[in-house]
Amino acid sequence: MERKRGKLFIVATPIGNLDDLSPRAREVLRTVALVAAEDTRHSAPLLAHAGSRARAFALHEHNEREQAERVVERLLDGDDVALVSDAGTPLVSDPGYRLVRAAREAGCEVSPVPGPCAAIAALSVAGLASDRFVFEGFLPAKAAARRERLVALAAEARTLIFYESSHRIVEALADLVAVFGAARAAVLARELTKLFETVIAAPLADIQARVLADPDQQRGEFVLVVAGAEGEAADATLAEGRRVFALLREELPPARAAKLAAAITGAPRKALYE
Ligand code: SAM
Repeated sequence: MERKRGKLFIVATPIGNLDDLSPRAREVLRTVALVAAEDTRHSAPLLAHAGSRARAFALHEHNEREQAERVVERLLDGDDVALVSDAGTPLVSDPGYRLVRAAREAGCEVSPVPGPCAAIAALSVAGLASDRFVFEGFLPAKAAARRERLVALAAEARTLIFYESSHRIVEALADLVAVFGAARAAVLARELTKLFETVIAAPLADIQARVLADPDQQRGEFVLVVAGAEGEAADATLAEGRRVFALLREELPPARAAKLAAAITGAPRKALYE
């Protein structure tokens, strides 16, 4: 008789407040044989809080392929396994998709234990259009790549969600103001569910000014929710023209760059030049 396969649970954990661990998450962490954690030392207090005695082992972006094979072997042996990340929902700007795919390809059931996610928590208090939104995760760390990414997103009409760390929040806000414009509505959600939770809803330039004026506002973890483009800013052809213009402008005088960018993208030359 074929042995019963184990189940892989993808378990969301708190993003700050331990009380946000759901009763079902607690139960799953208590009953599985193994917990795959992004960082076992980081997850140890949470597992203790949940009363879990499961064996924890590390599964992070540098060892996910090998560890996925190990987990699949255990699942095929009949053990249930939980995947947790350092905080929030695994796979959301966190490792795990290779493991999920490997488990399913091996014929094992994969089941979500939903719960906290910083992006959704921020969106839920942003007060910006939420019927459609785009999750962009972290912006590139290098300034040129970050700007290029933002230029490519400037005409996006859906609400945009970005993750940001304390190392780059000042630079990211400066680039957002430069590319999306000072007046674009946005919400900066900092340290959600923690002691210093702060939600600032204001035009981008005002958020930037508040963060620059107060070093405390530069600490912690951030989600930036930015309103989608409206009116002329939502013109995708013009946005693409501006992106090409910005690239050509690094090598050519403005008039020549505008002429070529207009020919390549179909955007009006005058608008690009201006
Ligand atoms: N998987 C997680 C989730 O579901 O939200 C996200 C993991 S990602 C590596 C970490 C980033 O999430 C942080 O740099 C920050 O942008 C955001 N984040 C996590 N916890 C947060 C919190 N309590 N408040 C604001 N942002 C948070």
